[in-house]
Amino acid sequence: MTEANQKIVIITAPSGSGKTSITRHLLKTFHQLVFSVSAATRSARNNEQNGIDYYFISEEDFQQKIQNDEFVEWEMVYEGKYYGTLKSELRKIWEQEQIPVLDIDVKGAIHVQEQFPKTTLSIFIEPPSIPELKRRLDSRGTETTESLQARINKAAYELSFKYSFSNTIVNDNLHEAQQQAERIIRDFIASPAKTIGA
Ligand code: 5GP
Repeated sequence: MTEANQKIVIITAPSGSGKTSITRHLLKTFHQLVFSVSAATRSARNNEQNGIDYYFISEEDFQQKIQNDEFVEWEMVYEGKYYGTLKSELRKIWEQEQIPVLDIDVKGAIHVQEQFPKTTLSIFIEPPSIPELKRRLDSRGTETTESLQARINKAAYELSFKYSFSNTIVNDNLHEAQQQAERIIRDFIASPAKTIGA
């Protein structure tokens, strides 16, 4: 895939940092933004729909797509669970002259930035602290004891990559974090793509 004037917004963070709330807020605020639906091999949660939250596919299908070079990036985000950004998804959004918003993990975000250095805006959402992150994940109630611990360990590791991203927002107050993200995105939408990151 070539890098033309197509812009990309990446929202990345350790899980539980509030990045989903911030992403939703941005999607509601800016009609130019469209959520990039990833492929994933985990099963859908109760409130999730195929094609809207993820393309829920089998591991076999996922491997086939890797072979066919259909991903911009993919990662085994959690043990045995694969997630990836499809080239076809970005292409579809660009064809509608809109900007894809990728809610992806830190390693995936770094890979996308490397491939589209001039047209990607990345925002790293930092949780106020690891104990606060644990409290948030606990209260979400979607995790088992093991998956909670896995997410906490991963979060601590991911925090060490925060300097790889062009923007960092500390999410200790959701409203303020949303406002900050809004300002960053407003400038990005208004800027000519070719000068971004140059
Ligand atoms: P969840 O299972 O809670 O929906 O997502 C787990 C993690 O996977 C989140 O941090 C989410 O941002 C990340 N993720 C979702 N889609 C992708 C993707 O396409 N690529 C990568 N690298 N990570 C993703």
